[in-house]
Amino acid sequence: MRTTFKNISLLCLLIIFLSCQSQIVVVKSVNPVAVAVDDTTFVNLKSYSADFVYDMKYATEDNFLKAKVYDCAECYLRYKTVQALIKANETFMKEGLRIKLYDCYRPLDIQKRMWAIVPNPEYVADPAKGSIHNRGGAVDITLVNKRGKELKMGTPFDFFGPEASHNYEDLSQKVKDNRALLKKVMIENGFNSFDSEWWHYNLKSALKDKLSNEKWDCK
Ligand SMILES: [Zn+2]
Repeated sequence: MRTTFKNISLLCLLIIFLSCQSQIVVVKSVNPVAVAVDDTTFVNLKSYSADFVYDMKYATEDNFLKAKVYDCAECYLRYKTVQALIKANETFMKEGLRIKLYDCYRPLDIQKRMWAIVPNPEYVADPAKGSIHNRGGAVDITLVNKRGKELKMGTPFDFFGPEASHNYEDLSQKVKDNRALLKKVMIENGFNSFDSEWWHYNLKSALKDKLSNEKWDCK
């Protein structure tokens, strides 16, 4: 009995300690579970919002590698990236649009798998250096309308050519407007665009976060 009280006292102390840490917040997720996270904790986007559309290309063979490199399709990101992305999506939803995700956090082991298939830094980041995807701060995204149809962006995702660049001019006005809208809202919410890929966005505050190989469970 005494041991149980001791355990309870220790638990109370731990709870008091955690609640005193200003960096740590208790968040109610979409699933009714309260989880303690800080800004850099890896979390599953769908636990915080049901308003995104997913097309996780590297969990299928429908990508330029022609290989399924993730064991399952989940979108994990650092908590601060999730918060920024939800804010951006709320803005798009006011216009009847939503963010569709192609790729999120990518553990280093997955980066190594990709590098083993295409060891060319023009197409895949060298795992020795890593990328913001390996830091949990990058997303590959597009926009879909109310019917779930992708807005015209001029090229498919992972199109390797000048047409995918934000600076490419020979595009219809509609495509330019769609890209500009995506870029404007993402930048307003703390992301940087990437010149050669209209779909890639980095959270500015995540650029120096650690490379990670943290994995998630595939059930
Ligand atoms: Zn990317």
